[in-house]
Amino acid sequence: MKSASLFSTLSETLADVAQPQQRVSVLLPMPFKGPFDYLSPPDITLNPGDIVLVPLGRRQKTGVVWETSSDLPPDLAPPAEQKDRTDTSRLKEVAELLELPPLSADLRRFINWVAAYTLTPPGMVMAMTLRLHMHGVTSAGTGWLPADTIPADLRMTPARQKVLDLLRKGLPQTTTDISAATGVSAGVVKGLADARALRAIKLEPECPVEAPDPGYRLPVLEAEQARATTALRQSVEKGGFSVTLLEGVTGSGKTEIYLEAIAACIEQGKQALILLPEIALSAQWTERFIRRFGVAPAIWHSDTGQRMRRLTWHATANGNASVVVGARSALFLPFEKLGLIIIDEEHEALYKQEEGVIYNARDMAIVRARLVQCPTVLVSATPSLETLVNVQSGRYRHLMLPSRHGGATMPETRIIDMRVHPPERGRFISPALTEELSATLARQEQAMLFLNRRGYAPLTLCRACGHRMECPHCTAWLVEHRARKRLCCHYCEYFEPVPVTCPACHEENTLTSIGPGIERITEEARELFPDARILVMASDTLTSPTAITEAVTRISNREIDLIIGTQVVAKGWHFPYLTLVGIVDADLGLSGGDLRAGERTFQLLHQVAGRAGRASAPGRVLLQSYTPEHPVMSALLSGSQDRFMAQEAMQRQPGFWPPYGRLAALIISCEDAAKADAVANAFGRMAPYGEGIQVLGPTPAPVAVLRNRHRRRLLLRTKRTIALQPILHRWLDMVKPDRNVRIDIDIDPVSFL
Ligand code: ADP
Ligand code: ZN
Repeated sequence: MKSASLFSTLSETLADVAQPQQRVSVLLPMPFKGPFDYLSPPDITLNPGDIVLVPLGRRQKTGVVWETSSDLPPDLAPPAEQKDRTDTSRLKEVAELLELPPLSADLRRFINWVAAYTLTPPGMVMAMTLRLHMHGVTSAGTGWLPADTIPADLRMTPARQKVLDLLRKGLPQTTTDISAATGVSAGVVKGLADARALRAIKLEPECPVEAPDPGYRLPVLEAEQARATTALRQSVEKGGFSVTLLEGVTGSGKTEIYLEAIAACIEQGKQALILLPEIALSAQWTERFIRRFGVAPAIWHSDTGQRMRRLTWHATANGNASVVVGARSALFLPFEKLGLIIIDEEHEALYKQEEGVIYNARDMAIVRARLVQCPTVLVSATPSLETLVNVQSGRYRHLMLPSRHGGATMPETRIIDMRVHPPERGRFISPALTEELSATLARQEQAMLFLNRRGYAPLTLCRACGHRMECPHCTAWLVEHRARKRLCCHYCEYFEPVPVTCPACHEENTLTSIGPGIERITEEARELFPDARILVMASDTLTSPTAITEAVTRISNREIDLIIGTQVVAKGWHFPYLTLVGIVDADLGLSGGDLRAGERTFQLLHQVAGRAGRASAPGRVLLQSYTPEHPVMSALLSGSQDRFMAQEAMQRQPGFWPPYGRLAALIISCEDAAKADAVANAFGRMAPYGEGIQVLGPTPAPVAVLRNRHRRRLLLRTKRTIALQPILHRWLDMVKPDRNVRIDIDIDPVSFL
C-alpha cells in the first residue's frame, strides 16, 4: 500500500473518532510569498478550494484553502521555502467557511501557474478571481428572515427595529441588501443573528442570463466557411486541448464561424469563454450573439453593477452561464465546466495587462485551456508573429478564410506621399484626401478619418523662447484638449488650464499648438465639410459601452456622414455604408525603439482599412505618409501580409528576439533618481550570463519619469530553450533594494516605455 493512501485512511478513521483540528494552508489575496497555515474549526473539515474567512492581525480576511504541494513544471517552480510544520500551538483558527462554491483544482493550478510564470505572489493572482465577487462575498448565499420566536431578552434599538420591520415583509434578504435598504451597518444584522433574532435562509443565486439556443438561427455558410466550421466543431466535440488559429481577411465571416464553435460547446453542455480585447466591442458582438442564439450572453466588465457581477460570478461557478464574454479579467472566473476559449483579435496589445499582475491574457488563456483540456481558438485578420510561428511549427492548427463574405471586395489602397502633396500650411488633410472625402460624401456614402491621437495637439510650444509644456510629474509633453480648455498628461492624471503667458519667458500669446490630435482634425473637417454630420469616436468621448452602442447605432442608421476616430474605430466594427477610410498619419507609431513597432502599425492600419467597403459598395483607403517607401506602407499597399511578416521574422531571428527568444524586463523605479540608478547598476553588475543569456541595460526608460518615479530598465533575453524564471529568481535574490525602490518584472514585455 502506498503511504499516501495509508495516510488518508488513517486520517479518515481518526476523523471519525476524534476530529482533530486539521492544519490547512490558506492563500490570502495579498502580496505574500505563499499561503499561511491555520487550524480548521473543530467541527468542520476543510478542503482545498474552500473559501474561508480567517483572522489576520486584528482583521478578518477572505482567503482560499490552498494545497502546499504544487505540480508546476520544474522551470516555473519558485525556490522552496523551509517551514517548521510541527508546532500547531500558535496557529489561529479559520473563522468561517463561506457559503461559496470552492475554487476548482484546475483553477487553483492555473492561478499557481500564472503566479509562477509572471513571478507574482500567488495571492495577487488569486485576488483576481476573488475580487471579482468580493462585494457582498459573505452574504452571497445567505438570506435572513426574523426568527420564529424572537428572544424575549433581545435588546431593541432603532436600527435593529428597522431590520426586523424590513424582514417581516417576508422576503429573505442578504446582509448587503438589508444594508442597502435600511442604511444600517452589517454589524447590526450580525448582532441580530448572533442574538438568534434572525434565521438564515440559503439563497440560490438567480441566474442573470437565459440559456442560449444553439438551434435558434442556423447560418447559411459558404463553402470555405463551412469547412472551417466543421473543423472547429469537431475539435469542440472531441474535447481535449488544442489551439487553432482562425485567420481571415476582415469581413470574411470569422465571427460567424466561431459562433458555430460556441454552438457546439453549448450542445456539449459545456461553457464557452470569449475574450475580446476591449469590452467596448461587446455591444455589436452581443447583438450578433442574440441573432444567432436568441438570448444575450453573460457579459463580464467593470461597468456592470456589483449585484450583476456577483450573479454572473455565481452563474459561472455553478455552470448556469454557458457563454461568458469579457475582457481579460474574465479569464479568472471560476468556470465549472469550461469547454472552449475564443480569443478574438488575438494580436491586440490590449491583452497585455500592464499594471498589478503583469500578464498576457492571450497566452494565459492558452495555459488555462491546457490545464482544463479544452480547445482554444485564436481569431485575427492580422495574426501576431508569435502565433504564426506556432502555426509554422505545427503547434497550432490553421484555418484560413481567404475572401470576404458575399463577394465584397477588399478595399483599394493608395498612398499619398505627403512630401510631394503636402497639405496647406497649418492643415493636416491633404488636397487629394479632401477630394476623395468630398466625392464620397456627395455619393451619400460614409467616410472615416483615423488618427491615433486623442486631444487637439500633442505639443504646446512657445514661439518666443522655445519652451515646451511638459508634465511636472512625467517625462511627457502635455497634450492640449481644447474642448476642455486643458493641457493633459496622457501618462498620469495631471492637467492644467491652457496658460495665456509662457511660463518660461512670460511673453503673452506666444504658445502655439504643434501637430494634430483628432480634435484638430475634427475642426479642420468641419471647415472643409460644413454640412457633414460628424461623429468623433475616441476613448475620452465615448466613455461607456452604452455610449459606444449609441454611436454605432447612429452610424448604422446613416445618421452620420463622417466618423473621426482614434484606435477605437479600428476594432471589429461592421459599418456597411462606410466606403472611404483616410489615415491622417500612417507613420505615427513607427518611430521609437519598440520591437513590434512595424508589426503593430501594420496590424492597426490594416484593421482600420478593413472597415471600408464591407458590404456591396467597394471600399477605398488613403494613407497619408512621409515615408511611403517603408516596408509597412508597401505591405499595406500590396496586401502582401505574408511577405511582410516573413520580413519581420527575418529581422528578429538572428538576435533571438521574440518569438525566437524569450524576453523579460526589469523596471526599477524610485522617487529618488540616485537610488534608482544605484539599484539599476547593482542589477547590471549582477547580471546573469552564459551561453544564450544576455542582459541589455540598465538604461533610463523612454518615459524616464512617471508619476514622479525615476525609471530604469534592464532587459533579459534568452534563447527559447532557456527558461527565464529560474534565472530571474537567482538574479532578484542577489540585489536587496531598500523599500522605496520598486521592481516590476514584465515577462514577455509588449510595451517598452
Ligand atoms: P469577420 O469577423 O471576419 O470580420 P464577420 O463574421 O463580422 O467577419 O462577417 C462580416 C459580415 O458578413 C457580417 O455582417 C456577417 O454577419 C456577414 N456574414 C459572414 N458570413 C455570413 C454568412 N455565411 N451568412 C450571412 N452573413 C454572413
Ligand atoms: Zn504626467
